[in-house]
Amino acid sequence: MAEKSSPLAIKGGPKAVQTPVGDIFTWPIITEEDEQACLEVLRAGKMSGTDVTKQFEQDFAAWHGTQYALGHSSGTAALLGAMWACGVGHGDEIICPSLTYWASGLPAFSLGATIIFADVEPHSICIDPKDIEHRITERTKAIVAVHYAGYPADMDPIMAIAEKHGVKVIEDVSHAHGGLYKGRLVGTIGHVGAMSVMSGKSLAVGEGGMVITNDRHIYERAVAFGHYERTAATEWATGKKVLTEPELVKFAGLPQGGYKFRMHQLSSAVGRVQLRHYRERTVEIQKGMNYFWDLLEGVPGIRAHRPPKGSGSTMGGWYSARGLYRAEELGGLPVRQFCEAVRAEGASTGPGANSPLHLHPLFNEADIYGHGKPTRIANTTRDVRQPKGSLPVAESIPTSCYGIPWFKHYRPQIIEEHALAFRKVAENYKELL
Ligand SMILES: *Cc1c(COP(=O)(O)O)cnc(C)c1O
Repeated sequence: MAEKSSPLAIKGGPKAVQTPVGDIFTWPIITEEDEQACLEVLRAGKMSGTDVTKQFEQDFAAWHGTQYALGHSSGTAALLGAMWACGVGHGDEIICPSLTYWASGLPAFSLGATIIFADVEPHSICIDPKDIEHRITERTKAIVAVHYAGYPADMDPIMAIAEKHGVKVIEDVSHAHGGLYKGRLVGTIGHVGAMSVMSGKSLAVGEGGMVITNDRHIYERAVAFGHYERTAATEWATGKKVLTEPELVKFAGLPQGGYKFRMHQLSSAVGRVQLRHYRERTVEIQKGMNYFWDLLEGVPGIRAHRPPKGSGSTMGGWYSARGLYRAEELGGLPVRQFCEAVRAEGASTGPGANSPLHLHPLFNEADIYGHGKPTRIANTTRDVRQPKGSLPVAESIPTSCYGIPWFKHYRPQIIEEHALAFRKVAENYKELL
């Protein structure tokens, strides 16, 4: 093949990517329909209302087949509300993968709880079900499963462990809206799904978050925690007392969390429109992204980050798409150098993903609430901090993965050129050693 023998762009050869990319990476896709929906909210002066949000919640719940959906001001707020709703409180522990964004775990600190990090699996880079059970103690209240970079976490064993120990499972769906785990929508498998829908994510709405659940008790608690104007309505509306905790019952109808987490209705309005088109748009994303990886099947040093074909699992909207890197197959070429050479070919990429949280000083040293000791161990009876070397897979992520182009359209020529950029560098790695 002519391309194969051509020199690398970083060595003065022709770039693999030649065709203008146009709007293939543009996201979100905003049309007049989104603009119109916003104008309606603005002209009615309903920015702080809940009517549009309630419609968005209905759409969202119907899409997932869950009984409840509760709009939030951000994914962070949704996760904090979900944690409290699952009973996480003072002195408790949650188990969370080390490889994720702050908000999957950090909000637990503000509840007086702490975080125990678990390692991730090398192929999925999601929480490793085999690294969870031995971390459960009598203080464990919840496991947070993050469907990292769109890859669905292995929910079956996680749910089995949770059932066995009476622990709740919170799915953080911020990377994986509409993704399937063995044919089931992610976010509907755990006790509660919580997610961001801010405009950087694959379901891109504006600042916002969503909590979905089939558990009325969790729903009521999430309402009581962060939704002033709804606290009175919910419990009484059902005619039965869902909240059984004496403290909650005593103060039912009152804003117990003291937080205001309602979704801004410009977000809800955009959300309704985006959702209407989301499935169709993600079908095209999946077609483009799968084509990219199909073209790279068998290339040394690089591996697709996607579930096996025929597994019934999908990558949803492929948020923050990653590839796996195996330096040993490329003579030990550091991923940083690999990415530099791919960028020279005209494709955007960069090494790593989120840095492992268990090594971050914010979790190990910071005294955030003035306890006179690190917040991580402020309310625990033992030092739960996890040193370097304790979660080897999460610690390897900065050198074992990289970003790949996130195609929003199926345009074969452009995708083929981008795949060639990666292939050329992998196949000519010796030139870089
Ligand atoms: C973005 C993100 C969040 C936080 O959502 P915000 O809407 O930004 O508050 C939570 N978890 C994960 C995994 C995320 O990527």
